[in-house]
Amino acid sequence: MHDNAQQQGATASNADILIIGGGAAGIGLAASLLKRQPGLAITLIEPSDTHYYQPAWTLVGGGAYDVGSTARPMAQVMPKGVQWLQAAVQGIDADGQRVTLADGRHVGYRQLVVCPGLRLAWEQIEGLEQTLGQHGVTSNYRYDLAPYTWQLVQQLRQGKALFTQPGMPIKCAGAPQKALYLSCDYWRRSGVLKHIDVEFNLAGPALFGVATYVPALMKYIEKYRAQLAFGSQLVKVDGPAKTAWFESLDANGARVRQAKPFDLLHVVPPQVAPDCVRESRLANAGGWCEVDPGTLQHVRYANVFGLGDVCSTSNAKTAAAARKQIVVVAENLLALRAGRALPLRYDGYGSCPLTVEKGRVVLAEFGYGGKLLPSFPWDSTVARRSAWWLKASFLPWFYWNGMLKGREWLTRCSAAE
Ligand code: FAD
Repeated sequence: MHDNAQQQGATASNADILIIGGGAAGIGLAASLLKRQPGLAITLIEPSDTHYYQPAWTLVGGGAYDVGSTARPMAQVMPKGVQWLQAAVQGIDADGQRVTLADGRHVGYRQLVVCPGLRLAWEQIEGLEQTLGQHGVTSNYRYDLAPYTWQLVQQLRQGKALFTQPGMPIKCAGAPQKALYLSCDYWRRSGVLKHIDVEFNLAGPALFGVATYVPALMKYIEKYRAQLAFGSQLVKVDGPAKTAWFESLDANGARVRQAKPFDLLHVVPPQVAPDCVRESRLANAGGWCEVDPGTLQHVRYANVFGLGDVCSTSNAKTAAAARKQIVVVAENLLALRAGRALPLRYDGYGSCPLTVEKGRVVLAEFGYGGKLLPSFPWDSTVARRSAWWLKASFLPWFYWNGMLKGREWLTRCSAAE
């Protein structure tokens, strides 16, 4: 595959089923398809030689998980029988049924599944990239920085800690506040929380998108004496000066900028669709892969499906969502090949285990329209030890040994009406 790499425009291959992205969604889907039909010819395009279990990075930032255990060689998780093309997709020509790789080669396809996740747009915050990982500026959204969060949390004994959340959509919308809770819990247990001013700056108007969970979360915000600043968006950072700038609207609707000093700044960056999707005819106005929210089939190109964080759907962008979407796409894609009607509908399920303290989790599970979809017969607004065990022990194990191997546990979804 690498021989022709320099030949601009050469055809690398023609794929029967082509998957873009070997993350939670892409690897899980390839495994699920092969479980159904072991002989399928699947090509998967993925540039990275490492696969990450991102949901545990919150725990790493809270000193509750080993960062090394969140990464495995891509070759190890690639399902047997899948042809892995280690390259990045640069363009998608949905009319011509082919993609262009970063080195200029083309790959044709019969059916395409688009799942390259989303892109963290660090560059949208002035000064941020130069200072990340130094001067007390960190983010659990990167493998290399989550351990720095934990280092900073342990070092801080007094001062000002700022946590930020950008506008939606973002992956794991609860992750910005999970960082706050686990940090505060550590400071509280160490007896220094009373010396630390904690502030959560959210670009949006609510603590959490599903109102049912807000009272339970507010109890922890109050317990940790954290200030909430709604409608406050991080726009600029000066690490050496330990100052962050936030924009908000004043009473007259005019944009105002406020400087806030910090000792610790946990940043969650704005998040956008990858360029290869945003610039293609697969994109909606916002750049996301425009699929039917039920079937996950592209609304204009019947031989294209979308899966995972890149989708235009309004579900919570989580690995838990991908777990259920995989089954829908696998069944629907195979039905389409066989000339049958698409049999399954995705209900918008997503899950956000909110780590409100070390040892307890509020397990938020919900679908389209904020409908609660609990997996367990309990009051899901209560912070539980069993849910912490699920988050910190069971789910990581299940991810590597279940979801990425095509074992479809906890994935019930609706049949078409
Ligand atoms: P990803 O897993 O991000 O994979 C995308 C893949 O596509 C990557 O391997 C990338 O290299 C590849 N790619 C990118 N561009 C291209 C290209 N041009 N060509 C080819 N390949 C490309 N989810 C939960 O369920 N529960 C949680 O508690 C949770 N917590 C989280 C906490 C944090 C801090 C973070 C960062 C995420 C969390 N998530 C959580 C979200 C979860 O990790 C994602 O929703 C999930 O990984 C989405 O899967 P995906 O395959 O769509 O994207």
